[in-house]
Amino acid sequence: MENHTRCSDTNDPIDSFKLPKGKAGVSILWPNAWTNSIKKLKDGNERVIAILITASQELCIINAYMPTCNTDSQFEYTECLDIIYDIIQKYQETHKVILCGDLNGTLLSTRSNKHDKMLKNFVAEMGLSTGQDICEKHTFFHHAWSSSSQIDYILVQDKKLVLNYTIDEKSSINLSAHTSVRVITTIDIPAKVKSANKNRKAKYKLQWDQMDTNQYNRLIQQDITAIVDENNINTQVDILTNSLVRAGNITIPTKLLQLKGPKWKASPEVQILIKSCRNIYKQWQEAGKQKEHPLATTLKLEKRKLRSKVRMEQAVSRQSLYQQIMDNPNTQLFYRLINRNRSSQQTSTNCLKINGELNFIPEDQRRSFASYYEDLSVPKEELFDNNYLNLCKIRQQLYEQAMDQSTVEPELFTDTEENSTCMEAKNQPRIEIRKSIVKSRMMTGTYILQSDKHKFTHFSTEATCQLCHTESEDIVHMITTCPVLSTIREKYFIDIKKVILDSCGPAKWNTYCNNKMEITRLILDWSNFKESLSIGMELAEKLEQKARNLLFQLHIKRIEILDARNIK
Ligand SMILES: [Zn+2]
Repeated sequence: MENHTRCSDTNDPIDSFKLPKGKAGVSILWPNAWTNSIKKLKDGNERVIAILITASQELCIINAYMPTCNTDSQFEYTECLDIIYDIIQKYQETHKVILCGDLNGTLLSTRSNKHDKMLKNFVAEMGLSTGQDICEKHTFFHHAWSSSSQIDYILVQDKKLVLNYTIDEKSSINLSAHTSVRVITTIDIPAKVKSANKNRKAKYKLQWDQMDTNQYNRLIQQDITAIVDENNINTQVDILTNSLVRAGNITIPTKLLQLKGPKWKASPEVQILIKSCRNIYKQWQEAGKQKEHPLATTLKLEKRKLRSKVRMEQAVSRQSLYQQIMDNPNTQLFYRLINRNRSSQQTSTNCLKINGELNFIPEDQRRSFASYYEDLSVPKEELFDNNYLNLCKIRQQLYEQAMDQSTVEPELFTDTEENSTCMEAKNQPRIEIRKSIVKSRMMTGTYILQSDKHKFTHFSTEATCQLCHTESEDIVHMITTCPVLSTIREKYFIDIKKVILDSCGPAKWNTYCNNKMEITRLILDWSNFKESLSIGMELAEKLEQKARNLLFQLHIKRIEILDARNIK
């Protein structure tokens, strides 16, 4: 349930150590499902509150707790009636008004104190009634049972609203001095389920400092005559408001603060796909939305593309968060990870197995997680083989010293040497062995490129390719991109492409070898494509041979150039 509530002490100053008592107040309660249709009004005071409901008919419900009758109470009673009068005046044109509450005055003819008189006059003036013949049942019973009266009402202006008006019997478990009054109305309030995504509007910020003041004034001036000519003050206010809004829209630039929709910013690629999906849908709709229409299939495919792109981007963003956490762990990132995992329904699990025990209760699971991370964050010296670590450090230092002091040049093959040897490859297995060693080092990631040096030296060496200086030198760059090696690459790669095209045709080539990454994988290890390119024994042998040649030639050329430039 939600509520709109005010109490007699709502506006009283309250000591810092006291809580508001919430006594003698008024409250309107409603089910959560109606909240979107309800507006709490500021009108009223601590005895009178009101709400507006958007329903089958626009409603204004006023709830009042009128002052009790005593010596000078007529002044306060009148004040409250005035407040109710104002609210009714304000909303009766546009809304069906319902006034209810403990009115501390009766409409029955049997009693006529000063409050009763005022109430009867007021009700008559406002055209209020219970909507049905008034029943004689009492709603208030003095605790001492010394008196009783009918002072609680639900009153309407439009009698048609009331289907049934009931004053309940005073129940023995009802400790209040009052009994309940109920009305069943003809109004239908739609239950709107609160959408999980509250962010339905894009948010903009007006940039006042950049407004075009002259044009703003000019636009408002245009509407001034219309305001002067108008007699009705409400219409005048409407014209003025619209004029201000219109002039503002035209002359004040806005800055987008938040996009409409979920808190997720579509990348430009995704936006293109979304747009294209919409366009196809429109076309399909115009064509009559037939299920067999070719556009239906196109739409399906395009939607699939969109979904897969979104999934891919989410995966990349997830991966980059993981990477950030690994590279630069901090509390903020850690909580982001936890929130991310908690917010996703798909990753929530109902059972965790911890130390062989099955945990089904979220509270236990959280506790287990907490102690796991607590345990993780406490350094445990005894579990770490520090001796071994130190030994490794010493070894590494020795290797580095040895490398630095080494004067022996690496044994290199020249292009001519390689070419001549290649002719008689069968008789010169040594060169074949070297080729296969180069290839297997590249395959296993043990062939050291600049990006590897970058990592090994704790980033003190740059990762940029020392041949072309255009980008980081990794295996993909070397095999497919580096412009300095392009002549060699073209010469040997054409051969590889040709044997595949001859064997499986351009369609498969275009499907499976359509980017640098895939081509690198193919050259390093054709077996990745054994199924997709239907590589048989014969083709496999050819590919292995040609890939070895290409890689070896790239290797030789690279070493040659680096050597000539005296780069180790
Ligand atoms: Zn390069």
